[in-house]
Formats: sequence, C-alpha cells, structure tokens
Amino acid sequence: MFELKAVSKSFAGTPALSGVDLTLSAGTTTALIGPSGCGKSTLLRLLIGLLQPSSGEVRFDGQPLTPRSLAAARQRIGYVIQDGGLFPHLSARDNVALMARHLGWPVERIDARLETLRALTHFPASGLDRYPAELSGGQNQRVALMRALMLDPEALLLDEPLGALDPMIRHELQVELAEIFARLGKTVVLVTHDLAEAAFLGQTLVLMRAGRIVQQGSVEALQRYPAEAFVEHFLRAQRGLVGAWG
Ligand code: ADP
Ligand code: MG
Repeated sequence: MFELKAVSKSFAGTPALSGVDLTLSAGTTTALIGPSGCGKSTLLRLLIGLLQPSSGEVRFDGQPLTPRSLAAARQRIGYVIQDGGLFPHLSARDNVALMARHLGWPVERIDARLETLRALTHFPASGLDRYPAELSGGQNQRVALMRALMLDPEALLLDEPLGALDPMIRHELQVELAEIFARLGKTVVLVTHDLAEAAFLGQTLVLMRAGRIVQQGSVEALQRYPAEAFVEHFLRAQRGLVGAWG
C-alpha cells in the first residue's frame, strides 16, 4: 500500500530522514517508534504527501505521490494528529462532515455515515453538536478519528493520537483503537514513542533512530534478535519506565 524507496528528507540542509526503504502492506498495522526527533512525524507526513522527499520516491497503491496524484490519494488516507487538529469554530458534527459536504454527499448519506462512526468510536450522540472546547481530550480524539474515517479511507495514519491524554483515558482508547483496527482491516500506520502502546496496537514495529530505520519486526523479534545495541538500549529504557517487559 505504501512504499518508500531511498527516501531522504532535509530541512534547511539538516537531514531528518536518510535513505529510508520501507514497504507497508495493505491491511497491516504498523507502529513507528523511536526517540523524539528521530523522524517519525516526518515519515508520516511524507506518506500522506504533506511533505515531498528531498530525494527518493514515495508510492501509494503502486503510484508515485506527485502533486497531480495527491488530491485523490488524500481522500483515500485518513490522518489523525496528537491534539486532534479539529477546527475550533466547528461543532464535532461539522468537523466530521466537512469533507463529505465539500464533495457533495447527500445529507442522508452523511447522517448515516456519522451514525456508523459514532457507534464505532463510542461517541455520545449528545456530543455531536458541541464544539471542541466543550469536549474532553478523549472525546476530541474520537471526533478526530471519526473525521479521519468519514470518507472510508483505505489507510489510516495516526501521529501520537493518544499522546496528550491522561493514563486512564489513554488506556481506554488503546483498547478501543485495537478493536477498531481489527474490525476495519485498514492499512494503519501509528506513530508512538511508547513501546507498550506500539506492541499492543502494532503487528509490526518499525524502530527508528536519527532519521534511519534501525529494525523492523514484532516486539518479540526485536527483543530476541536486536539488530544493534541501540535496540537493546531502547527496549531496556522503556522496560524501566513501564515495567511491562521482562
Ligand atoms: P519525531 O516525530 O520522531 O519526534 P520529527 O519527524 O518531527 O521527529 O522531526 C525529525 C527532525 O526533523 C527533528 O530534528 C526536527 O527538528 C526536524 N524537523 C521536522 N519538521 C521540520 C520542519 N518543518 N522544519 C525544520 N525542521 C523540521
Ligand atoms: Mg513527532
């Protein structure tokens, strides 16, 4: 579904990604993980065409992402960021329905899709007419998820979607996201810096460091066959923090 070939990206001459090769198959859930600043968000933005590579190629569904193919590809890829990125002056309903209205969907189709997504994300009907400032952080992320899923995209990209939530809400949403990913069977790419979350939600982990992919595989594979000392260090540091690995 996504293919990166020798992709590098620099900002003002400073490399953020260097020679990344990565293939993400349709229907799989991948967690991008690594220390802050290692290039996770940059990689995700390249996948959805918000950034262009400095060199190399990004392909979506076999086609290079070019300025011409971009608009069509965007409608096939949902995107959720950490703070939700909702429009503050629009109600939850209007945030979710925005693109569908823009595309001229009939009201009945929009309402039916909204109801499906509301049930899927366990969002209260009474919240649909509230503004983001009137909803909790967890509810806003449900709205952001509904918005990303509105056009029924084939792929869903999430950049630390639970990063700003308190631990209990975060845990609740982790469990729900796992169910949603399993139910929808979409190609999912999730960015997180939390190993437990990556292992819980991702079938495959892609561990990055300083703009490169260090290792790709299950958490068990990373534990058992670390590609380099950094993998062991990263796993050990996270075990110290979450106490979930041993
Ligand atoms: P991560 O998401 O893993 O924390 P990012 O992909 O956001 O890392 O950033 C990778 C590197 O690229 C960092 O050094 C960051 O400062 C830099 N970077 C990211 N976006 C920009 C930008 N728009 N302009 C300049 N530098 C950027
Ligand atoms: Mg980031």
